[in-house]
Amino acid sequence: MRSEEILQDEVRGQKAAWIEQVIRDFCATAANSLENGTGEKAWGEPRVAFARGDDPLYEELKADIGPFFWTPAEAFALAFPDAPLPAGRLAVISYILPQTEATRADQRRENEVPAERWARSRFFGEAFNCELRLHLAAALTAAGFPAVAPERLPGFAYRQSERYGLASNWSERHTAWIAGHGTFGLSDGLITELGKAVRFGSVVAAIDLEPTPRPYAGHQDWCLWYARGTCGACIRRCPADAITEAGHDKQKCFDYIRNVTTPYATEHYGTGATPCGLCQVKIPCEARNPL
Ligand code: SF4
Ligand code: SF4
Repeated sequence: MRSEEILQDEVRGQKAAWIEQVIRDFCATAANSLENGTGEKAWGEPRVAFARGDDPLYEELKADIGPFFWTPAEAFALAFPDAPLPAGRLAVISYILPQTEATRADQRRENEVPAERWARSRFFGEAFNCELRLHLAAALTAAGFPAVAPERLPGFAYRQSERYGLASNWSERHTAWIAGHGTFGLSDGLITELGKAVRFGSVVAAIDLEPTPRPYAGHQDWCLWYARGTCGACIRRCPADAITEAGHDKQKCFDYIRNVTTPYATEHYGTGATPCGLCQVKIPCEARNPL
């Protein structure tokens, strides 16, 4: 390897380490909270991965999901209309925030509605996640790497995909898959090295980073159902019968969350948002890659 390539790798490594530290430091603040009066954190230790802005999977997703789906370059151009950049000059930073053991343990005891800790992580924890997205984008921009959190753009919205029904124009889960965090399971959740009981966030930045290797070929490789024809535990966990051998019925899931779990959480826990996630625990892929 030539010396300038070695130097370039070293600089990329330093930038990656700095980004990880920005995320970790923010997760260590009091803002990462279940807001239950005990100072308990909403999320455990994060995990960070990087994708190329011009990864061809983004264009494939756009063709598959619909023209409303943003590529990283499109999301970046919305934030910086006077200084758009080609996809090859961009990187996507994707992170995972894992549910804590206490939250997962509570949720494992529930069969019909989410546990209070889970509802709190969905509400207060996701509010923190929104802050984290913005904090990371601001830190990068201040350091000279213009950045945007697509999910925080005013135009972020759900649309009707001809093929998939309701779909958002930026997908944190698909970004995590492209960045090498994991693959999809029967229930549509992403199975990561930290399992499926996680939430995701991402930022697109004008920065040169080494993409994280994707240790899989197919998009469902880590699900026991698709890999070995076994398991199906998430089917039994869903009280709405929204998961079957055919996969995840988004409409049934949406209806159950809107009509049952959200009103329950609002009335009993005083939280907002739309919690459920019963299919994310008490399963082999809850907190690990089951393979
Ligand atoms: S519970 Fe089993 S079938 Fe469902 S996503 Fe996880 S590994 Fe796949
Ligand atoms: S999130 Fe949806 S699929 Fe999962 S258990 Fe709840 S209703 Fe079922």
